[in-house]
Amino acid sequence: MTNVTLIPGDGIGPEVADAVMRIIDASGSNINWDIVNAGADVYTKTGELVPDEVYKSIETNKIALKGPITTPVGSGFRSINVMLRKKYDLYSNIRPVQTLPGLSTPFQDIDLVIFRENTEGLYIGIEAEKENGVMEAKKIITPKGSERIIRKAFEYAKSKNRKSVAVVHKANILKLADGLFLETGRKVAKEYPDITMKEVIVDNMCMQLVMNPLQYDVIVTMNLYGDILSDLCAGLVGGLGLVPGANIGNDLAIFEAVHGSAPDIAGQNKANPIALLRSGCMMLDYLNKDHEANRIRAAIGTVLDDGKVLTPDMGGTSSTTDLTNAIIDALIRTN
Ligand code: ATP
Repeated sequence: MTNVTLIPGDGIGPEVADAVMRIIDASGSNINWDIVNAGADVYTKTGELVPDEVYKSIETNKIALKGPITTPVGSGFRSINVMLRKKYDLYSNIRPVQTLPGLSTPFQDIDLVIFRENTEGLYIGIEAEKENGVMEAKKIITPKGSERIIRKAFEYAKSKNRKSVAVVHKANILKLADGLFLETGRKVAKEYPDITMKEVIVDNMCMQLVMNPLQYDVIVTMNLYGDILSDLCAGLVGGLGLVPGANIGNDLAIFEAVHGSAPDIAGQNKANPIALLRSGCMMLDYLNKDHEANRIRAAIGTVLDDGKVLTPDMGGTSSTTDLTNAIIDALIRTN
C-alpha cells in the first residue's frame, strides 16, 4: 500500500474527493488514504485553518491529493494554497490541457502543458500602502526561480518528444523582471537544440490561444500569467471541471485541480469530479502507477465518448455520483 495524504477541502471539495477516492480504489492502485483537512470548514469548527496533523501527514507521506481550499478573510493567511506551495517549495505547477472525447468544444486535438512558476512573481504577497492611498505590490523574479521552472519545461518537452516551448512574458514593459525570465529562457533553450523556443508576449498569447491553440505545445511562464492562462486554457477544453494540476518540488508533491471551491454548486451533488480525478491520475503517474492511471483515463474517455452520463458543466443532467458510478463501471468492464 502507498500512503497518500488526502485533503478534501471546502465547497465541492469533499464531494469530488470522495468520488476520486472511490474511482482510484476501484482501479486497484492500492492507496492508503490518510485523510486530514484544512480550510474554511475546519476553521469554523476548530478555530484552526491548517491543523498540525495536516503538515505532519504531508511531511510523512511526501505526497498529497488536495481539494480546493477557501481561505477566510481575516484568518491571518492570504491563501493556504499559495502558502503550501511556498512552504514545501513546490516550484513547478504543471497543468496539462487536452481536449477530451465526446465534448463539444471550439477546437479538437488541443494538447498543451502549462508550466507555471509557483513560488515567486506577484504571488509573494508583498504589498504596502504608500502615501496618499497609493498601493504597492512587489513582483520578485529570481535567476534561480526562473531557471528551475524553465529547465523543468524543457526537460519535460525533451522526455515527451514535444516540439516547442513557449516562454510567455511581458518583457517589453517589465524590462528587468520579465526581462530576466526571458533571458533565462534563451539561455536554457541553447541546451536543447532540438526544441524550438517561442517567445510570446502574454497579451498576444491570450489572443493566439483563443484563435489557434494548436500552434502551442509546452508553455512556461511566471506565476500570475500562468494562473490566468490556465483558466483561459481550461475554457478551451470544456471548463474548470476537467483540468488537472500538479505542484511538484524536489522531494514532495501536491496534486490538485485547477478549479476553486465553486460555492455556487457546493453540496448539490453536481460538481464534476474529473478535474480532481485527472489530478489523481497525475499522482499515480508520479508514483509509477501509470498502468492504473491509464486505465482510469481510458474509463473517463469511454464515459465521455458515450455522452450519456455528464454533469451539468459538460452539458448533461447527471449527478457527481452518477458520473462516478459510470466511470467505475467502465473501469470494471476493462478488467
Ligand atoms: P478560486 O478563486 O478559488 O480559484 P475561481 O474563481 O477560479 O476560484 P471556481 O470556484 O473554480 O472559481 O469556480 C468558477 C466557476 O466554475 C463556477 O461557476 C463553478 O461552479 C465552476 N466550476 C468550478 N469547478 C467546477 C467543477 N469541478 N464542476 C463543475 N463546475 C465547476
